[in-house]
Amino acid sequence: MNPQVDPQPRGPRDAGTPRRVLIVGGVAGGASCAARLRRLDESVEIVMFDRGPYVSFANCGLPYYVGNVIADERTLLVASREMFRQRFNVEVHTETEVTSIDRDARTITVRDGRTGAPRAERYDVLVLSPGAAPIRPPLPGVDLPGVFAVRNIPDSRRIRAWIADRNAKTAVVVGGGFIGLEMVENLVHRGLSVGVLEKLPQVMPPLDPEMAVPLREHLAAKGVRLHLGDGLARIEARVGGGLDVVAESGARMPADLVILAIGVRPETGLAKDAGLQIGPRGGIVVDAQMRTSDPNIWAVGDVVEVRDVLMGQETVLPLAGPANRQGRVAAESIAGRATNFRGVQATAVVGVLGLTVASTGASEKGLRRAGATGFQKVYLHPGHHAGYYPGARPIHLKLLFSVPEGRILGAQAVGLEGVEKRIDVIATAIQFEGTVHDLAEAELCYAPQFGAAKDPVNVAGMLAENVLNGDMPVAEWPELGHTDAVLLDVREPDEFADGHVPKAINLPLSQMRARYGELPKDREIWTCCRVGQRAYYATRFLTQHGYRARNLSGGYMTYQALKGAGLAP
Ligand code: FAD
Repeated sequence: MNPQVDPQPRGPRDAGTPRRVLIVGGVAGGASCAARLRRLDESVEIVMFDRGPYVSFANCGLPYYVGNVIADERTLLVASREMFRQRFNVEVHTETEVTSIDRDARTITVRDGRTGAPRAERYDVLVLSPGAAPIRPPLPGVDLPGVFAVRNIPDSRRIRAWIADRNAKTAVVVGGGFIGLEMVENLVHRGLSVGVLEKLPQVMPPLDPEMAVPLREHLAAKGVRLHLGDGLARIEARVGGGLDVVAESGARMPADLVILAIGVRPETGLAKDAGLQIGPRGGIVVDAQMRTSDPNIWAVGDVVEVRDVLMGQETVLPLAGPANRQGRVAAESIAGRATNFRGVQATAVVGVLGLTVASTGASEKGLRRAGATGFQKVYLHPGHHAGYYPGARPIHLKLLFSVPEGRILGAQAVGLEGVEKRIDVIATAIQFEGTVHDLAEAELCYAPQFGAAKDPVNVAGMLAENVLNGDMPVAEWPELGHTDAVLLDVREPDEFADGHVPKAINLPLSQMRARYGELPKDREIWTCCRVGQRAYYATRFLTQHGYRARNLSGGYMTYQALKGAGLAP
């Protein structure tokens, strides 16, 4: 059956002719584009299609709806069809799937989900924002009842119903990334016993392995069963009910329900079929104004490839912030403004059972993968506010910067409080191409309950400055096994007795001035303490007394994290 073109064609883009803008996908990117375009241009006709029952819903809130933290489904609906019509004069068709694009005729074929009837819709401008689909690996059992992915409200509703109807007690989340861990938190919140199967040897793959160690320990302490470094082989239905998640190693994890959260893949089917250019990372190729290889088609959100401004290469980054901003940029471009999308730097945060994990910019493993060498890093563990004010909690922070310029390349932080604030500050500094000197100089909020006169961000910048100007030569923890340097722990004897790095000798900073003559001058001295501060003082003292001293950045705390990740002897 040949779809009928409806409504009346309105001719090409002539001056004075209202243009017809069709948008595929009505959530983060699509809805932002529609609303912004209307604010810029009252003359265009805007029609938005979504194959789901809702537009503009809060996908980021879905895990919390499963966890019943958000109990009322209606609060997830940020805007309705009616609101789009009344407020923005945008026509919305839900449960209407766009099945093909005819670029020559400038039409799309849509199928009404209620009637099944196809029809053609003509466009002058087409915007694609179909998002990304959860990856369902072609493995036995992934389609069994009780195995879910979380993408939309109906998915979340089904998971809630499954938990309630079967009185589910155990769950396994396959994949320890952002969405997987948010699901872990919410399933634990619902009282389920939760396990995680993750192919990598760490949770939260974007982090460097040692920065994921505090998170792993936190999850374990909260009773989450972690099975890391093992991929999913299959899922089996158990006789008598329930499921078995079977790992590649043969390990079995029983569960009443399984959440698949092993990543998402850009929904490029429409674009591919229409011959639009697809990039090496599997997303639609767009220019800085979000225009695809077809000048009449824009694309935004999870479906596109974007430039990673730090790594200087294309990437896919399925996050809501970029999708919203891209929708806005596309609208501006369609309205004739030359606004550019700046690219992404992968700023992200996740909360997991009280712990916050956040990162921005490049990771060390990403830099190494890209062959970068001219960079350095510092570790620090400052309190989230002044130590004398009750309740200070440590933030484990890692800062990466270029040498010798000191350009900030990336940062990762883990802690109970104040984590995302620091990463947001550093993210902003990165956006303005800031250096570690800018961090050292940053004038930030301070009162005892909020921060410190030297905020963790300042301290990170100062430490990095010390590395750059030679005040604090650093030694690398993983080199411990290959050095004849004296390993000098400058903590007090009781701290040393509580645990120390193998082969370390103890000379407390408090006795350094009296006893430094005991140290050999013909060997390097690598200093260490709990977090790196006293070791820094010792390094300064020793270098000024003719010793070749270096500081093991981040102290014993960082050593333990690196050891936990298998990166230190
Ligand atoms: P989407 O928002 O996914 O919208 C795409 C829409 O297009 C869908 O409604 C889909 O039904 C529709 N569609 C697809 N194909 C067609 C078609 N052929 N015809 C008609 N309609 C179609 N990001 C964060 O930054 N922070 C978070 O905390 C966070 N949490 C998340 C939690 C979950 C559970 C999920 C799933 C995502 C989360 N994200 C988060 C990611 C964020 O939601 C996405 O990056 C963002 O929604 C992408 O916007 P988009 O417009 O590209 O796609």
